[in-house]
Amino acid sequence: MVGATGVAIASSPLAALTSCAPKQQEGCDKACCMHGNGQLNISFQEGTAPRETLNEKFDYMEALGVTGFEPGGWDLVDRVNEIQQALNGRNIKVSAICAGFDGFILAEDPKVKAQFDSTMREIIAAAGELGSTGVIMVPAFNGQTPCKPHTRETREFLCEQMHELGEYALKHNTTVILEPLNRDEAHYLRQVADAAAICRDSKSAGVKCMGDFWHMKEETSDFAAFLAAGPEYLQHVHIASRGHRRMPSEDGVLDNYVDGFRALKMMGYDKYVSFECGCDGDREILVPAAVELIRKQWEEA
Ligand code: MG
Repeated sequence: MVGATGVAIASSPLAALTSCAPKQQEGCDKACCMHGNGQLNISFQEGTAPRETLNEKFDYMEALGVTGFEPGGWDLVDRVNEIQQALNGRNIKVSAICAGFDGFILAEDPKVKAQFDSTMREIIAAAGELGSTGVIMVPAFNGQTPCKPHTRETREFLCEQMHELGEYALKHNTTVILEPLNRDEAHYLRQVADAAAICRDSKSAGVKCMGDFWHMKEETSDFAAFLAAGPEYLQHVHIASRGHRRMPSEDGVLDNYVDGFRALKMMGYDKYVSFECGCDGDREILVPAAVELIRKQWEEA
């Protein structure tokens, strides 16, 4: 990495990173050359595809080349067989499970914490049966009270509790995935790097984190946020339009994911980018348009 490349790095860091992202250069230990083999695997939540039944939704997703399915967790225990049967023989896997538990992990009330502990573990077990990459969770939404205070002791408590959950998840061949939200929804955990630091300090390989492009308005850089988590901790990604959380493309020029995608490609990210968004128009038009936009920006990144 000398000569012309060195000049390029000095004058335009991002251009230089992009130029060496696609191929791994032997002997180069720069972040841009770490992996470069990322893969765009698109996933839909259950309400995304404009169809009625699970089988119709999966037919629609297969036709679009969508290979991940992210169901909610609240009734998952009773749906394991239904989902397994509908996925049988298809090129679609369960990407992640979106929450669905009762209570919350930072509850002051022991009964509410116990609700979380039992229902979260039921969902983790079901997620394992379905081969999910993990179960998404938020430590506490703003509206969930009484909540443990935002102190050093609470963080230590969270790390201890996450360790136990992570180890339980590993026994079921899955993980738990911390999702940072924006301050309007959850002040406690707002940035991807902070979530990754909690993963590290939880000391369990079963504790992971994710980024949601909608909530990532908290970040100063999509690129830095994903790269800070890195391949060791980043387990899932949510995507939506960036103005009002609808289908990507519905907010026009705001819907730019290239910087984030560039980091994912450099990291060799091979998990899922999953739609978590509404739709203000005709899904028959806007869902395929969103998939096309994401694929185009992934290529550009
Ligand atoms: Mg999300």
